[in-house]
Order: sequence, then structure tokens, then C-alpha cells
Amino acid sequence: MSQTAFSTLKLHAALLKNLSSLGYEEMTPIQAQSLPHILAGKDVIAQGKTGSGKTAAFGLGLLEKLDVKRFRVQSLVLCPTRELADQVAKEIRRLARAIHNIKVLTLCGGMSIGPQIGSLEHGAHIIVGTPGRIEDHLNKGTLQLNNVNMLILDEADRMLDMGFQAAIDAIIDQTPEQRQTLLFSATFPDQIQSIAKRIMVKPVMVQVASTHDNASIQQHFFKVENNEHRLTALCLLLLQHRPESALVFCNTKRETQEVADELLHFGFSALALHGDLEQRDRDQTLVRFANKSVSILVATDVAARGLDIDALDAVINYHIAHESEGHVHRIGRTGRAGSKGTAYSLYSGKESYKVASLDANVDPILDSESLPPLSLLEESAMKPLMATLQIDGGKKQKVRPGDILGALTGKNGIAGKQVGKIQIFDNWAYVAVSQDVVQPALKKLGEGKLKGRSFRVRLIHG
Ligand code: AMP
Repeated sequence: MSQTAFSTLKLHAALLKNLSSLGYEEMTPIQAQSLPHILAGKDVIAQGKTGSGKTAAFGLGLLEKLDVKRFRVQSLVLCPTRELADQVAKEIRRLARAIHNIKVLTLCGGMSIGPQIGSLEHGAHIIVGTPGRIEDHLNKGTLQLNNVNMLILDEADRMLDMGFQAAIDAIIDQTPEQRQTLLFSATFPDQIQSIAKRIMVKPVMVQVASTHDNASIQQHFFKVENNEHRLTALCLLLLQHRPESALVFCNTKRETQEVADELLHFGFSALALHGDLEQRDRDQTLVRFANKSVSILVATDVAARGLDIDALDAVINYHIAHESEGHVHRIGRTGRAGSKGTAYSLYSGKESYKVASLDANVDPILDSESLPPLSLLEESAMKPLMATLQIDGGKKQKVRPGDILGALTGKNGIAGKQVGKIQIFDNWAYVAVSQDVVQPALKKLGEGKLKGRSFRVRLIHG
């Protein structure tokens, strides 16, 4: 028997038999690493993307724990979108085929609430749903969570991206403290770690891909002649590597604006971030960069402080940082969450001494690489994947992420996977949608109502 065979696990015979009828013989890496802990009743944090087999990992865990004879909600799975919730519910039903009378119910936004209330009156063992709608049911008193002994957050990073933090907190407040909690996420920004600290007890970390440290950042150095050459070098690097998200560091405010303007002029999607921006403009700039509707952010160190953005493809030092500590800090922002990071640094002859002082292993002359060929300048600049829509209603108007998601993906709407980050401010909200569905998204939001009101919606032009 192989070490990763499901039969090595302490699972009910009926569950095991069904797995082999589904053609699941060997565990996937995430299953092999997490299931023994899950079945031992431990809290588990796991890095799992779609396709890794994560659903079966937590699905088997919750089914093994379930007492079918107790007709109460015992497991709750929170998902960011209706599509994912439907997929998860389907997989749980497949895994549960061998157990009679298990009731799995999905509760998602964008669907009418009446039939859901009806189904809840009939009872369920397992609820799979989106945080906004589950919170609605809790507020209406149509759902009770006092028998939940297994709570699962699926794609936790994406739920936070979509602004579900408050709803998730409110839901967890209503579950018993004595419960097992599993958290699955593709990335681990600080926000996830602080949630894990609050809601989990001695969690076991399962990471299939290794995380990175500064040593896994690839650094490249390029010597430039003068300021004009520096700008050309920046464009060449961007055209060659075509990052989805890149952060360019300058040493002065004025330079951030100049460089961003020049990049725009070349056809790139770029914005400057510096201390002179008004709060509203700063918020909007950060929203657009984080939701991938702007590909390049040109910033000073001070302005970039506290920037909570994951998965930067590249950090580019337009000038070398004043101090080596600053340099390490800058380049540490690339390649989070297990992916390899890349940092490009441009320096002039006068800055060579700074390069030498960064690291004894870096030689400003020997380690300077050649820039990509000038012929690349003929290529067109990369375009962002997403676009940002601004809705003139926010927290004060009680607009919530679920309302926006529901309005976009409701009848004849766009697919959940075409919706990106949703961020809500006091009087306005931003939602990212794929570039190719901007018009239908504007139409859905413009025609539909949020909280029974129509709000003005517009595209923020890049
Ligand atoms: P997920 O990452 O949970 O979306 O699962 C990806 C797909 O892999 C689903 O279609 C599962 O049915 C399938 N799957 C999960 N675990 C296994 C396994 N151990 N062997 C074969 N297929 C699996």
C-alpha cells in the first residue's frame, strides 16, 4: 500500500469505498499533508489553489466528523463567490454519496432569499455559502450556528480582497468556540495571519509550495549613462518582462510624477504615489494598483510604506535606495506567497558605490547586466487585465460587497470570476472587473439597484 493511498487514513469504510469508486486512489500533496491533521481534530492553515484537491481535503474532514443522525448545521464552509460555493457543494455531495440522508445547502448572494429560508426550515447538516448572504440569514434569525463544530474558510485571501472581513467576523462570532477551524488560501498576506491568530487554536501550517525569503529574490543590476538612458532602460525592462504588477521606486516626489507621466506617454498604465496626494486620490491609486487595473506604481519609499499588496511581479529601483536597509525592504515586496521575486536596479556611475555597499557579493562593474535590445521599444506596452468601476455609494449608504457582487452576477450578469477586488469606502466603492466585460458590468450596475437605490457608476479611465 502506498504511503499516500487514502486507505492509510482513518476514514469510515463507506467513505473510502466511495473514493475508489470516484477514481481517487492516491492523495494529492495537499491532501496527504493536511488530512492526517484534519482527521486528528487540529486546526489547519493550508496553501491550496483550485485544482490542488483542497475541496476533498476539507470535504473528507468534515464528512468524517459529521453525525448524520443529528439534524443540525454542523459544518459551515465560507467561499468568496457563488461559483466556488456551487463547486464545493457539488464535490462534497460526490464525496458523501455513500452516506444516506446528508443534506448540503448552498446560501449565496445574488439569488432570492425566500427559497433559501424555506430550505433552512427543512434543516441541513452542511452549509456552503458566501459571507454576505450568510450574515443576512443570521441577522434575520433564519440560520443558527450554535451546533457548528467545523468551520472552513475557502480562498480566504480572495474573501478579504472582496471586502468580506466584517461579515466573516460577524459569522464567526456566532459559532461555538469549541470547534475545528480550517483555512485555505493561495496567498498569506498579513491580514490572513492576523485572522488566523484570532480564530484558530495552535494551527498546523501546511504549505505545499515553499515560501520565500530574500535569498530567493533574483536581483539584476543595470548600469545606465544618464537620466534619459535611465528612462529608456526602465521602458526596456518593462517591455521585456511585461509584469502584471510592478512597483518602481524613486528617491524624490517630483521624480515619481515625472516617471509616471513619461510611462503614460509611452503607453504604459502607470500612476504616481507620493506624499502630496490627497487622501481620496491616494486611496484610488492604491485601489487601482492592487486590483490590477493599473500595472505600474511609481512611488517613494515613504509613500509605499504600509502598502499592503501581494504578489508583485517585480520591484524596479529607478534609483538605488539611500541605505542598504531600504533596498532590502524594497525588494522584499516582490514574489510573496511562494512565487519567485525579481528585482531590477538601475544605477549610474555615481551610484556605483551604493551598489557595492548593498552586499559584499554584488560587484557594480562585474555584475552589471546588459539591457534588453533597443528594438523592443517598437513593441506596444502591456495592458492591465482589469478595469476599475467607481460606485457613488459606500459604507454610509450601507452598500456592501455582497450587494455589488450580487448586482453584477445576478440574472444575465457577468461571471463571478470576472469580478476582482471590491473595496468600500465611506461614500463610494470600487469594484474591479475584467477589461472585456466593462460595458455589461456598467450596464448591470447602472440599471440594477443596490440597497433599493440607484447609484451613479462610472469607469475610471486608465
Ligand atoms: P479542487 O482543487 O478541490 O478544486 O479539486 C480539483 C479536482 O481534482 C476536482 O475535480 C476533484 O474531483 C479532483 N480530485 C481531488 N482529489 C483527488 C484525488 N486524490 N485523486 C483524483 N482526483 C482528485
